Amino acid sequence: MNKDLQNLIKLSKIDKEATKLEPQIAEIEDEVNIKIKLQMQSQDELESLKTDTKRIKLEIANNELLINENSEKLAQIDKKIANVKSEYELRALDAENGLAKEKIAFANEEISRLEKELEAIKDKEKELLQAIELATKDIEETKIEVQKKTAKIKLELQKIFDSKEKLAKSIDNKVLVFYEKIRKWAKDTSVVVVKKQACSGCFIRINDKVYSELLKSDDIVTCPHCGRILYIQE
Ligand SMILES: [Zn+2]
Repeated sequence: MNKDLQNLIKLSKIDKEATKLEPQIAEIEDEVNIKIKLQMQSQDELESLKTDTKRIKLEIANNELLINENSEKLAQIDKKIANVKSEYELRALDAENGLAKEKIAFANEEISRLEKELEAIKDKEKELLQAIELATKDIEETKIEVQKKTAKIKLELQKIFDSKEKLAKSIDNKVLVFYEKIRKWAKDTSVVVVKKQACSGCFIRINDKVYSELLKSDDIVTCPHCGRILYIQE
């Protein structure tokens, strides 16, 4: 077999190994990225709880204001009742008194409901803060792990590239450029074996003329259908 072809077969196997390793780095880095994303979600949740707290506190203050206003009103009504001149006036003041008391009772109910909401928010905040703290530690640890793992893979890749470089030096430059050109579209199936007189890249049968050329000639032969470099398993 053509010496360059022999080396090309080896080279394509080396390239295949590198292709397998490269996505592993992204996968490992994803471990950290997913955790960071989750932590950011917790932080967003915490922020929205702070906004809720502000809103509820404002609502409580408004209800307190309402209670004060109506308490004052009650005091005024009491004064007026002491000096009441007619039955009609008394009834009107009674009605006003009832309304003010109702408003106070309602505002008090609102305040206790809102205070319960605040308590629940505080508990949730505490939970989130704890979760964020744990996640921070976990992320730091995972980062270290990821660095170790990716460093190992990068080292393996470096070894692969070194052996590729060494091998590439022994291949005719024209052949190498030709191979890289095919690799742009055929990726890891740029150099393929012929099985049962068919290209194992496109799986189309090779005509007898090209097949006999492949068997006899020492030249590099490409598939007439897809253009991949062909070889016969020896
Ligand atoms: Zn083909």
